[in-house]
Parts: sequence; structure tokens; C-alpha cells
Amino acid sequence: MKRGLSTSVAVASCGVLVAGIMMGLCCVVLYQSRQDALDHTRDTLRDIAVIAQRDIERNLELYELSLQAVVDGLQQPDVMILPPHLRREVLFDRAASAKYLGSMLVMDELGNVVIDSSSDTPRAGNFSDREYFKVQRDNPNAGLYISDPYLSRLRNSAPSIGLSRRLSHRDGSFAGIVLLAVNIAYFHDLFAGLTLGPHGSLSLIGKDGAMLMRQPYDPSVIGRNIKNAATFRRFMSAPEGSFSETASIDGVRRLYWFANFPRAPLIIMAAASEEDIYAPWRRRALTIGSLMAMFGAAFIALSVMLGMQLRRRMRAESELQMLARTDGLTGLNNRRSLGEILDQEWRRAKRSQSVLSLLFVDIDRFKGYNDTYGHQAGDDTLAAVARCIADNIRRPADSAARYGGEEFIVVLPDTSAAGASLIAEKIRSAICACRIEHAGSEFGCVTASIGAVSREPQIDDDVTTVIKAADEALYNAKATGRNKVSTA
Ligand code: GH3
Ligand code: MG
Ligand code: MG
Repeated sequence: MKRGLSTSVAVASCGVLVAGIMMGLCCVVLYQSRQDALDHTRDTLRDIAVIAQRDIERNLELYELSLQAVVDGLQQPDVMILPPHLRREVLFDRAASAKYLGSMLVMDELGNVVIDSSSDTPRAGNFSDREYFKVQRDNPNAGLYISDPYLSRLRNSAPSIGLSRRLSHRDGSFAGIVLLAVNIAYFHDLFAGLTLGPHGSLSLIGKDGAMLMRQPYDPSVIGRNIKNAATFRRFMSAPEGSFSETASIDGVRRLYWFANFPRAPLIIMAAASEEDIYAPWRRRALTIGSLMAMFGAAFIALSVMLGMQLRRRMRAESELQMLARTDGLTGLNNRRSLGEILDQEWRRAKRSQSVLSLLFVDIDRFKGYNDTYGHQAGDDTLAAVARCIADNIRRPADSAARYGGEEFIVVLPDTSAAGASLIAEKIRSAICACRIEHAGSEFGCVTASIGAVSREPQIDDDVTTVIKAADEALYNAKATGRNKVSTA
């Protein structure tokens, strides 16, 4: 019974273990595919940022060359004496008419426009208040300066950024600036062609923290300074890199890829929201995970059922086995299992060279008892006698069996003749003590005669000879008065 329980528990535990391993593996695979989604997005962000960065860098390079050409041209005296329309052609190359180029202006040291790329008579204006002017004026080594976004005063407030270079007199003193204004629409159109998912963003930021362009486009964000944002501090901490952070502009958590331009004070940043990154993964994980959980649960349920079935079957089997080994009336071993017990104990006694004792118990005048009290009473008496026998064999190795009719055999392994006689006597007196009325008996009650034999098995000895000897001893007990123990 216990074996059945432990087997069923083992089968169910195996099922749970296998299901657990399967689900564990599934979790590992799902986790890895989540990481893959993140890695894949990081690669995409880098690709998009690189595309935008290269385009911007190439254009900046062209603008820089144009600016330099103006600075160089202005230093040549024969250029300055040319008629205005020729001078314009010499100073401002074709780049000056490029799509996103607002205007190119030469200003004097007071900030007044003196040469204008778009007309022979310069448009009137003074820009000494502009930051790009002040930077070039106050700093001889500013070089190429890229300004924060501003609204153009000459071009209907078009949002622009200015690229400027300083003009110096021969003695190094400030002579004015050359300004090239780039329409912010350029960045807007460039970014609009690069998509980063519904909640993604692509930004171009000045190194002072000014937002030059951001996709998705929101005019109110352009020009905003984000230098205090946590993200911006991280942009500044390395030439390029990736991290996850919650954006200060809209509170969305994103994966960022950023790169600092090597030759311009700009930062390009591409970001995708974690929601967008994980959405396809989450759908897949939900499907696979729930299927896996269902399979796992079904597997566990099946193994528990299998375990229970196994337990039931083993219990039935052991019950059958017990029934096949016991005598239905007395509950003692039956003749078949007595044969097995005798064989086993005989061999054991042979091996250990120990004494095996047998008791042959036969109820006295039982035929007469049946005749007087009926068969049913006879059966009850048989059961009572069997109880007397069972109650008086105490060692675990001892066993009793119904040999047939009203005859019983008690097997006492490793028991001397004296010990066997003692037990035989205990059984006899126990039966006597029951005082079951038997009018046909000379003792007035049910009694039994017992033949006892003790033998140390010899090499060519057979157990049947021992039974025969016990039977002879019993015959002797019967012949000499019954209700007694006789030894062979
Ligand atoms: P003795 O003292 O010489 O042993 O006399 P006895 O009458 O017991 O003689 P014997 O051993 O030949 O008798 C066996 C009787 O036991 C025969 C039968 O009436 C009775 N008997 C055998 N098996 C059963 C049984 O299963 N139930 C009942 N009620 N009686 C049985
Ligand atoms: Mg008999
Ligand atoms: Mg008898």
C-alpha cells in the first residue's frame, strides 16, 4: 500500500518536474526573444541616427565651404571693387540658392547687413543683438558657430539656425561676420522621412541643450532647452551610446541611441518607446505563454491522474495477492502460500544451519463436533482455533497456515525443540482455555492435538520428510489420549 502511494507520488512529481522544466525553458526563450527585440531596436535606432547624422554632416560641410569661400573672397581687394551683381556671383556660389538655405549675409562690425546673397542692394537690417553676432564679436577663436534656433527677421519669421564665421581686419580686430541661415525645415523634412514607431522620437540637439528639431514635430518644443534633463546629461557623458530613460518632454520611457557629432556642436538622438519595442513580443509571449501554461497544467493533471490510477491498480493488485495467499475462513496463510513459506524457510535454515521447527495441529474429534453442532458452528470453531494459534506465535519470522480441513501447520524458523514444545503447549492450552462446548469429547470442550518436530536440514534432506515426521508425532498424540503435544 505504501509502495503504491510512493509510486503515485513519484509519477505525479515527475510530471510536475517535466512540466516545470518545459515552462522554465519557455520562460528562458521568451526572455531571450525580449532581449532580441531590444537589441534589434537598438540597431535600428543606430542606423537611423547614422543616416540622419551623415546627411546633416555632409550639408554642414558644404555650408562651411560656402562660408569659407565668402570669408576668403572678402579678403581679396579686386572682388570688393566688382559691381554688386558680379561680386554676389563671385562671393556666393550655387550653394547659396540651395533649397533650405535661407540667406547668406555679410555684416559689418556694427551688425549692419552690407552684402546680401539674395539681392544686389542688401536688405536693411541690424543683427548686433543676435547671439551668433555677439559670440563672433567677443571671441576671436569662435570658428564656425552654430546658433540656437531663432525666428528670421528677414524671412517672415521662418525658424532658422545660423552658421557664422568671424571677419577680421588685418590687425585681428573684429570686422563683422558672415552668416549663413539654414531653414529648420531642412531638418524637419529630413526627420519626417525617418520613422521610429508611433511613440518613437528623433532629435537634433545643440551641445548647449537647445532642441533644434524633434520628430514627432511640435513647434513649441523647438528651441526649448533640455540641458537639465537626465537624458541630456547622458548624451554628454560619452561620444555615443545607448540607454533607457523616461523622457522629460512627454514622460514616455524610451530606449535611446545618441551620437555626438565629431565636428559640430550637435547631438543626434533616436529613441523608440519601450511600449512599441515590446508590443509584438508581448503579444507573442502571451500566446506562447498561455499555450505553454495550458499544456503544462494538462501535463501535470495527466500525470497526477496516472499516479492515482497506478496507485489504485497497485492497491488492487496487492489485495488480490493477499487474498490469493490467505485462507478465507481463518485468515491464516492458505496451503499454497504455506508451500512457499516452507520452501523459503527450509532453504534459509539450510544456509544458516539453524533449526527449523514445525507444529502440526489437528482438532480432536471434529467430525463429531460438526455432527452435533452443525457445520456453521464447526466453521466458527475453526476460526476460533486459528485465532488461538495466531495469538501465540509472536516472532516476525513465525507463520501459521491452514493445511486443510481442521489441520494447521505452524512454521517456527530458528527455533529449538524446547522452544517449539513451549509454543505448542501454549497453543494447546489456549484452545483448551476457550472452553468451546463439545459434548462428544472426553474433555467436554474443543481441544487439539499437536505434533512437533525440530530439524536442522541436511544436504539431501527434503521438507516433506519434516511434515511427515510432524504428522507422525501428531498421530502419536492422538493415539496416546489427544489434547496433548507430542514431539518427534
Ligand atoms: P480426530 O480426533 O482423530 O482428529 O478426529 P476427527 O473427527 O477430527 O477426525 P478427522 O480429522 O478425520 O476429521 C476431520 C473432520 O473435520 C471432517 C469434517 O467433518 C471436519 N471438517 C474438515 N474441514 C472442515 C471445515 O472446513 N468446516 C467444518 N465445519 N468442518 C470441517
Ligand atoms: Mg484431521
Ligand atoms: Mg481431527
